[in-house]
Amino acid sequence: MVVAIDGPAGVGKSSISVELAGKTGFHYLNSGNFYRAVTYAALRENLDLETQSIVESFAATIQFEYRDGDIYLAGDNITAELHSDQVDAQVAQVSSFRGVREWVNQRLREISSRRDIIVEGRDISTVVFPDAELKVFLDASPEVRARRRFDQGVSGLSLDEIAEGIRKRDEIDRSKEWGRLVRAEDALYVDTSGLTIEEVCAKVVRKIHE
Ligand code: C5P
Repeated sequence: MVVAIDGPAGVGKSSISVELAGKTGFHYLNSGNFYRAVTYAALRENLDLETQSIVESFAATIQFEYRDGDIYLAGDNITAELHSDQVDAQVAQVSSFRGVREWVNQRLREISSRRDIIVEGRDISTVVFPDAELKVFLDASPEVRARRRFDQGVSGLSLDEIAEGIRKRDEIDRSKEWGRLVRAEDALYVDTSGLTIEEVCAKVVRKIHE
């Protein structure tokens, strides 16, 4: 079974997906981390991230491994490095390239063939798993999303800078040629602005059992 959770940056997808995975026993898969891994690896090599052919051929060569929710590059666990401000700033650009998207999607589908998953991202319901048993689209205002990121205390940026970063990422994510952030027609739509994680989970769990 596949539960697909899509929505923009900072909407609470990860917290909600982790909670749901705990409640259902499904494996939690964060597709954004796969794009972040390619971005992190490309930044480490000082690649020109604007040039599609350079980034795509690089992605095909990286020694990538996904194990127990962690991501390894050439044997090193890089999971903790994936949410740096530098990766945040570049990942929307890197994930706009078709070859990178195909590379990520292939890995996600391989993992889904082995177990039940809750997978979060932007185009999971529309492109990666269009036949998912349950599709959810989470939303919240840009102000609420920026405030949540700021309150997590993991970024060195100010609230205004975080809000600006989210605005830029939204713009790129919604206008991508491939894997554009768009709500699937058959997805359960939840505006999380005034809801707690538990309240959102309860809505989704109810839907899983319907
Ligand atoms: O989910 P997260 O914010 O960590 O994702 C990082 C970035 O990766 C997003 O801003 C988006 O540009 C890209 N992404 C994507 N498709 C997905 C998941 C993430 O393009 N399925």
